[in-house]
Amino acid sequence: MFGCFTTERHDELRAAVRAFAEAEVLPRVPEWEQTRSVDVELIRRAARRGWMGVTLGARYGGMGAGHLAKTIVIEELARVCGAMGASAQASLIPTGMIDHFGSEEQKARWLPAICRGECLPTIAVTEAASGSHIAGAKGAARKRSGGWVLRAEKVHVGNSHVADLHCVVVRTGAKGELSAFLVESARAGVSVRPHVPAMGLNGFSFGTVVLDDVWVPDENLLGAVGEGEDAADSSSVLYGRANLAAVSLGVHRATVEETLAFAEERERYGRPLSRLSTAEQRLGQMLANLDAAGTLAYAAADMLDRGVACDGTLMAAKLMGYELGVESARLAMEVHAAAGASMAGPMERFFRDAQLIFSPAGTSDVQRLRLARLARGATARGQWSQRFAVGPAPSVVPV
Ligand SMILES: Cc1cc2nc3c(=O)[nH]c(=O)nc-3n(C[C@H](O)[C@H](O)[C@H](O)COP(=O)(O)OP(=O)(O)OC[C@H]3O[C@@H](n4cnc5c(N)ncnc54)[C@H](O)[C@@H]3O)c2cc1C
Repeated sequence: MFGCFTTERHDELRAAVRAFAEAEVLPRVPEWEQTRSVDVELIRRAARRGWMGVTLGARYGGMGAGHLAKTIVIEELARVCGAMGASAQASLIPTGMIDHFGSEEQKARWLPAICRGECLPTIAVTEAASGSHIAGAKGAARKRSGGWVLRAEKVHVGNSHVADLHCVVVRTGAKGELSAFLVESARAGVSVRPHVPAMGLNGFSFGTVVLDDVWVPDENLLGAVGEGEDAADSSSVLYGRANLAAVSLGVHRATVEETLAFAEERERYGRPLSRLSTAEQRLGQMLANLDAAGTLAYAAADMLDRGVACDGTLMAAKLMGYELGVESARLAMEVHAAAGASMAGPMERFFRDAQLIFSPAGTSDVQRLRLARLARGATARGQWSQRFAVGPAPSVVPV
């Protein structure tokens, strides 16, 4: 699979994640689809395999395997269950935020626990009244001696009901600049609103985290005062875009595999459905979509691993991953016809899950406008992939 980007180490990682997903996740999917409940335990079991530390360095107990390896972990979980892929990616975004903006003390405290799977973090940025407009957030932190008091309501927070630590972005100071804070979920005043199931990604929680005058000490400020927007945007561009491209890719791959098998097995007019020209046309388009989405997702992650400036490629990977995945899901439903809508098969789940990737880490509209701005040089801060370039990851060296 996309062998020009991957090494034997990537293949071994893929095999391990696939084995876990098929043995431990797949049997749970019918229950999640039926109850639409949040599975608190399974994402922890995945985390205990060390996969939340896939990009983190060995000094924190991480795998140090890079962004392409992260893409493979998420893709393989999402191939079996979109909710598990979504859950993994949601906690992988804040690892980037802590790694890039945390002090040495913060990193030494939180990253080893994340690598061991003992701490699941979230990124809690979105507010109901501002959505994509992060700078419009109203949640705030007031300075108190020795610490800060946070008051905010963050919506659609991935892993809201599972997490141990929230990376929260709120307003601070007289100028109302955004700042980031580490807020333990066990702190007094932190709560989550009851889980409200969505149209898809059943098993994954992305609910509302309420911070009701939550006191945190000064050492929980993540980065400097006023760096919150940078922390949110850089982790969304460098981790979020690639992660959501990987979720789309996993669901997309499952959709194509299922549809190829269905069209081979189902007989129409005395031969396999796949021999009908309409099915062939749709399958051909789906395969091209999958190839394009996968190549872009892998190229973007590979560029990050090699320290190449690639903010635009990351945005394109998220955009096209979602758009092509949704188109393939529609074509797959057409190949299945009525059978696709049946809850006896997985196709309707793939179709629903694919739609939910539109919003996180920037909607398609946001990717397009950011790409256009990047092309005309209208980004004051330069590219995050240049600022946080780490050079070749060990995993890109063939073994
Ligand atoms: C599965 C899932 C997981 C999520 N995980 C997290 C998470 O972990 N942490 C977190 O903080 N948030 C998370 N979110 C929230 C996500 O980041 C927001 O949904 C997203 O920012 C869009 O906000 P909104 O839904 O309020 O839509 P809005 O921003 O209100 O958008 C409404 C419409 O307007 C368009 N639009 C918005 N702004 C512009 C613009 N500037 N130009 C042109 N069109 C525009 C949009 O494309 C859309 O069509 C998640 C959402 C989902 C669905």
